[in-house]
Amino acid sequence: MDLKDLYRDVILDHNKQPRNFGRLDPCDTSADGNNPLCGDRLTVTLRIAGGRVSDIRFEGKGCAISTASASLMTEAVKGLDAAQIHALHARVHGMLTEHGDALPPTDLGKLAALAGVREYPARVKCASLCWHTLDAALAHAADAPGAATVSTE
Ligand code: ZN
Repeated sequence: MDLKDLYRDVILDHNKQPRNFGRLDPCDTSADGNNPLCGDRLTVTLRIAGGRVSDIRFEGKGCAISTASASLMTEAVKGLDAAQIHALHARVHGMLTEHGDALPPTDLGKLAALAGVREYPARVKCASLCWHTLDAALAHAADAPGAATVSTE
């Protein structure tokens, strides 16, 4: 099994059995995300303790890439603070958009499974929707209670 097969299997697995799927009620902050280009919609709810994400869930309907990306993201960001999440988002964004044959970054763990998305520019927004939605939820947490909404269009 080569790396591409392994990555495809990770995406299929997380699409079929999304981790942390559902809604936290109550939650400390939440945001809705919408990618009209593909029809992906998701809601991210999180709890924050001591400045760190103590729990996170997502729910929604979308393509396999958007669901797998959100599932992988929820596993990756638990326990991180906002600065760490922004840094991770920047790394993922770079991985999704950098050109050439650069190997996926091994230190991103399972998130590297999404590296293949860069071969399909139209799907980058599917993979990044959850990250933008999480950003909106975190920004909103620092702001006022309620729900934020983002659109990647
Ligand atoms: Zn999509």
